Amino acid sequence: MAGGLLPVEEALERLLAHADATRIAETECVSLAEADGRVLAVDLAAPLDLPPWPNSAMDGYALRVADGAQPLPVSQRILAGQAPMALQPGTCARIFTGAPIPEGADCVEMQENVELLDDGRVRFLQPLSARQNIRPQGQETQRGEVVLSAGTRLGPVELGVAASLGQAQLTLRRKPLVAVLSTGDELVEPGAALGPGQIYNSNRSLLCAWLQRLGCEVRDAGILADDLQGTRDALAGLGDVDLILSTGGVSVGEADFLGQVLRDEGELTLWKLAIKPGKPLTFGCYAGVPVIGLPGNPASTLVTFGLLARAYLLRRLGVEKVAPLSVQVPAGFAWSKAGKRREYLRARLQEGRVVLYPNQSSGVLRSASWAEGLAVIPENRTLSEGDSLSFIPLSEVLG
Ligand code: AMP
Ligand code: MG
Repeated sequence: MAGGLLPVEEALERLLAHADATRIAETECVSLAEADGRVLAVDLAAPLDLPPWPNSAMDGYALRVADGAQPLPVSQRILAGQAPMALQPGTCARIFTGAPIPEGADCVEMQENVELLDDGRVRFLQPLSARQNIRPQGQETQRGEVVLSAGTRLGPVELGVAASLGQAQLTLRRKPLVAVLSTGDELVEPGAALGPGQIYNSNRSLLCAWLQRLGCEVRDAGILADDLQGTRDALAGLGDVDLILSTGGVSVGEADFLGQVLRDEGELTLWKLAIKPGKPLTFGCYAGVPVIGLPGNPASTLVTFGLLARAYLLRRLGVEKVAPLSVQVPAGFAWSKAGKRREYLRARLQEGRVVLYPNQSSGVLRSASWAEGLAVIPENRTLSEGDSLSFIPLSEVLG
């Protein structure tokens, strides 16, 4: 640990090891309409071939290649959704995209490449080859193949794939129940008037919406005053949840009441992460329930939740790949002061280069609403303009 700071990878490794040991085991059957953002609990094997039968990739004519040297009469018309008859030898069939290929035909010629003769026959103007414009049965998927594996996070595409296989319901991990606590005497909920010294609680809205996107059930435990007994009572009243997620009060200051209760009644590890924003992070346990205490500054909450707590929750659901995708992009700025902590700067892409929000203070959540992603400056590094750096799109972490 450089200078007593825990590298981000190491913190993540410890969190994921814990998540692996405490995976959510219960499953439930959920309709496709309710499954977006959730995690598949069992492999989904295809119960049928896709496509289920060979079909036409074009609007045109189905025929036997061997017959195509001379004009052919049209013996049937096959639309998508119809069951064709076998092709009469020496004829062709009018066929449309997605319609089943009649037995006996071995190619489809697109309508642009034929001439319709006055007597109704069709002349084929181009050389034909077997299988052209035919989507073979099972081309996409063969029956029995695992198409979506357990641990897959479902999004619109996966739901479309499941639908293509006829699945109305999927077996998913049950939703983890996460209690969200905001700590701080200064906090007031939006809608109320601000008193002297007070600010609005932004972390609660940030985290509750984010957790729901991640397929969690939220138990919003409101604002916790900076007070030992109140903190004790609030924790005791949370009931059975899968994770307690708090913000604020984690710097080892006098107002660290959550830490104190965990120390007395549970377990507490205080980490100083080599990360900026977001150095202090609590990982502990209360009445058998894991607790993650994020720093209170909203941009710190965003970064630590996005990089650590999000990954932890997804892993508890059985998702293997929990790291957000990042891309290498040239810096549109210079970074002259190497820091001990890895910086996650709120940034945008402008003409293919990373540009920074001017105010990177950890209290400024607006920086993240302006940003399209987090630009990563490694520990002990300086950068010149044009140097390549990692950029993590916020869309990757927020979903
Ligand atoms: P703390 O970690 O409690 O010392 O808080 C660090 C900073 O974050 C302070 O300026 C707090 O006022 C601010 N803060 C803590 N919790 C929240 C919250 N839920 N919403 C907005 N700001 C907060
Ligand atoms: Mg506080």
